[in-house]
Amino acid sequence: MMAQYLALKAEAEDCLLFYRMGDFFELFFDDAHVAAACLDIALTARGAHEGEKIPMCGVPAHAAESYLARLIKAGHRVAIADQTETPAEAKKRGGSKALVARGIVRVVTAGTLTEEALLDSRTANWCASVGEAAGEVAIAAADISTGRFEIIDSSAAGLAADLARLAPAETIAAEGSAQATVARPKADFDSARGEARLKALFGVATLDGFGSFSRAALAAAGGLVHYLDHTARGSLPFLRPPRLMRAAETMAIDRATRESLELTLTAAGQRKGSLLDAVDRTVTGAGARLLGQDIAAPLMDRAAIDERLDLVALFHDDAPLRETLRAALRALPDIGRALGRIAAGRGSPRDLGQLRDGLDGAWRLGERLERIDPAPALLAHLAPRLRGHGALIDLYARALVPAPPIDAGDGGYIAEGYDAALDDLRATGAGGRRAIAGLEADYRARTGIAALKVRHNNVLGYHIEVPARHADALMKPDSGFTHRQTLAGVVRFNAADLHEAALKVGQAGAHALAAEAAHLEDLIEAALQAREAIAATADALARLDVAAALAERAVEGGWTRPDLVDHPCFEVEGGRHPVVEAALAVRGERFVANDCRLSEDSRLWLVTGPNMGGKSTFLRQNALIAVLAQGGGYVPATAARLGLVDRLFSRVGASDNLARGRSTFMVEMVETAAILAQATPHSFVILDEVGRGTSTYDGLAIAWAVVEAIHEDNRCRCLFATHYHELTRLAERCDALSLHHVRAREWKGDLVLLHEVADGPADRSYGIAVARLAGMPPATVARAKAVLDKLEAGRAKTGGLAAGLDDLPLFAAAVEAEEAHTDALRDDLIALDIDAMTPRDALDALYRLQALA
Ligand code: ADP
Repeated sequence: MMAQYLALKAEAEDCLLFYRMGDFFELFFDDAHVAAACLDIALTARGAHEGEKIPMCGVPAHAAESYLARLIKAGHRVAIADQTETPAEAKKRGGSKALVARGIVRVVTAGTLTEEALLDSRTANWCASVGEAAGEVAIAAADISTGRFEIIDSSAAGLAADLARLAPAETIAAEGSAQATVARPKADFDSARGEARLKALFGVATLDGFGSFSRAALAAAGGLVHYLDHTARGSLPFLRPPRLMRAAETMAIDRATRESLELTLTAAGQRKGSLLDAVDRTVTGAGARLLGQDIAAPLMDRAAIDERLDLVALFHDDAPLRETLRAALRALPDIGRALGRIAAGRGSPRDLGQLRDGLDGAWRLGERLERIDPAPALLAHLAPRLRGHGALIDLYARALVPAPPIDAGDGGYIAEGYDAALDDLRATGAGGRRAIAGLEADYRARTGIAALKVRHNNVLGYHIEVPARHADALMKPDSGFTHRQTLAGVVRFNAADLHEAALKVGQAGAHALAAEAAHLEDLIEAALQAREAIAATADALARLDVAAALAERAVEGGWTRPDLVDHPCFEVEGGRHPVVEAALAVRGERFVANDCRLSEDSRLWLVTGPNMGGKSTFLRQNALIAVLAQGGGYVPATAARLGLVDRLFSRVGASDNLARGRSTFMVEMVETAAILAQATPHSFVILDEVGRGTSTYDGLAIAWAVVEAIHEDNRCRCLFATHYHELTRLAERCDALSLHHVRAREWKGDLVLLHEVADGPADRSYGIAVARLAGMPPATVARAKAVLDKLEAGRAKTGGLAAGLDDLPLFAAAVEAEEAHTDALRDDLIALDIDAMTPRDALDALYRLQALA
């Protein structure tokens, strides 16, 4: 057995091995240590291997799912080694001592789950694969719980952002790649083999029908398909034809921005408190998953956004329709995931029941929605997808009982009247059981023992049971009863007529079970035949749920439909931050709405004002409004006219990234550098307190240069919050920059933060007033006040921190001078004829170049 175990363990590579023994899955050696600690179960020992006791722990097979869930959650992967023959078969094959054959039947990993119990119904579960070829990078991603399959043409620079959008449960890549959470052999990511795998998977001679794939995309997809096949051990789960996504189709949002804006998860990794959570009013798991994707990947195509908005508007304006739709959706089972389990070969009768109910509900919804006239384009596209499963619904309605069980093993899921032969078998079984009940009365009459019972258990089958004190009469050889078992209080017997009746019942039962199993197979096949269409129906339902939910949210919060335009403006009236507003509402406080008006000639707002005044809230709410609008939803404002945002950047608040081994200041500079390198005139950037993490002079200098660069070079829309009052001088030299502040007032010695964004610079910083508000001891506050007075007196004399900056040439001019200089260097460098040089010449040239620099 140990030899078999070790061979399987070697095959399982770095996975924990669940080794099936009877009713348990056992783990040995290091696996046992890891699992016992993670699952908090007893670690025992068994036998010996190379003279040492073998550590072991085990979980009951019937409860394996919940243990698996915990191991997967803790980041482990588990290979399941099950028995591939019965003990009887093993005996027949190799004699009484033969070991039952076992094989790895499945590898359970975070990215390849289908079980309802192991998945979060409201989150998509992506397994992503990174492929590289010919200098290109692509991602292939599959959610096998629903069969979605996406291919994203990425880039070396955009890879991290694209992966962040998907937030995969698992990322595979070739060995040696930095992105992988699971490394696979390089050969799995061969693009030619990938192409062959895709063609085989979809049974096509060419992939052209799905779009044109780069070599990198084929490499990624090939690696993914191979991995899914590997984890499912040859029974590849259901994948729909791949959808090709271009990075340019969605708003680019890098990981730092995603984290800082807390789009779908908070900084603490929670869904609660995120934008998604504040917006989500969906009533189905599939709707919640789709909304999460919409918010993670806002669109860039104005027509597509408007199509979504038209549908939201329909449900927004028609409350009864919205209510009807949401009530109907709420009652529907998750057909996407039911289909996923069926396609993965783990479908149960209950999954078929869910398909029946879900498709039936969809049909009725389709009927209702098709009556809407005029129908928005998206609705006209979706409604027909809800219908068209008439034959399947009818089949399932006839074939299945109203509430089929999860476990097919006990039968009872095929409805009466579906199969006359099955009905006969059941009648025979029922008749037999009635006959047995009749026998009980007979036996009582014959023996005069009123306490005699006919019972059934799995060991003895049907048997007669009498209290021990009555047993003697039945023990007599001529009594017609045979003794089977004596227990503490009762004695059990058999009888010839009971045996015969039981045999009949048993046979009828076994035949009935076999007949049901055969029907189950056919019913599953029928679902598989229609899986494309069923998946399309599931998608349509999810899209309707999202639209109705966004409408519901908009009505609830008094939100407005954004007007999307092509030129880079950003005009929001009465904008609010949905998460902060909700948090304030809990405390009974009111959120102060604020306007934001950016345009081509006023594209940079410098926002000053006291700490806690609402600067970063204002910055963030506008970024969130852009995300919501391009995701196809209404926005928390009274009016909004927005030019499409191609890239969104947020550098707000000091995100402590010590875990990644960088200081806060370093992280801030890295992120700011990324913004300066990537923001275009169509981008939207929010920056908060750049330069805070270093000395005052350094910080001011960096903030100054960053504002100039954004204004002169990137020319993007930007909200820049700062406590460097000196920056307000930039308004004189940067014509598209304007000054704003969050208002505060001192009243009877107390600071009142009004959270109102007003034009012009802040008159002062109120830092000391904020410190007092925060409960700093009065003596310390007084001392700080004294120090400040001294500093301000000094500043008045010297002209302040930014004295002398006025004659600094403008950023563009400075850059030009710098470039002219490096150009001279470059020209010289290019002019060198290296092949013709002696080492001595080369050294001379180096000296000369250094002098130039
Ligand atoms: P700053 O960035 O200026 O330090 P924040 O934006 O972090 O300030 O806001 C501090 C707190 O003030 C928030 O947590 C919130 O409770 C409150 N606040 C911010 N903006 C508003 C607003 N518009 N209306 C009401 N309260 C607000």
